[in-house]
Amino acid sequence: MDIMDQKIAIVPGSFDPITLGHLDIIERAAALYDLVYVAVMVNSEKSYMFSMEQRKRIAEAAVGNCPNVKVISSEGMLWKLAKELGAVAIVKGVRNDVDLAYEQTMAKYNSAHYSAAETVLLPAKEEYLHLSSTLVRTKILAREDLSACLPKGAICEIQKVFPTTL
Ligand code: ADP
Repeated sequence: MDIMDQKIAIVPGSFDPITLGHLDIIERAAALYDLVYVAVMVNSEKSYMFSMEQRKRIAEAAVGNCPNVKVISSEGMLWKLAKELGAVAIVKGVRNDVDLAYEQTMAKYNSAHYSAAETVLLPAKEEYLHLSSTLVRTKILAREDLSACLPKGAICEIQKVFPTTL
């Protein structure tokens, strides 16, 4: 396929850290688009448990060697990144009404700046509805088992940052 014909999607987020819920959205996006960029972003409203480099490394370990998924990081605006990458879609997961309201606002904002990238919202799978980065951070601080929250490789990366985590 000509590189220009590739349908590119971005799955953006803080990924502090990435969870199996995020990973499910990424895998579903990878089945719909030719190339998926997982973009580890910075939200200036938030403070993070993991640095940008750490969040990227954990996300890379979670994604593994999925051939059409690449993890990148960006401190800029999402719509600018979408424009630079030539993305036709910004794919996000929606767990509930709160996520939906937030994503609708962000979709409107991004489309006002760069309308060529459509926001595509995928409903979260039932089994991941209650999984969040916040829950994972709580478990890390409580030294609880993370195996229901992240893939093994990603847990190994977290253990490098917090060596006493189970
Ligand atoms: P941000 O801090 O930018 O909202 P997050 O990393 O918290 O980024 O989340 C990124 C996206 O992943 C959001 O669209 C959120 O709705 C979605 N998401 C988070 N957890 C889940 C989950 N368990 N299942 C599906 N989507 C999820």
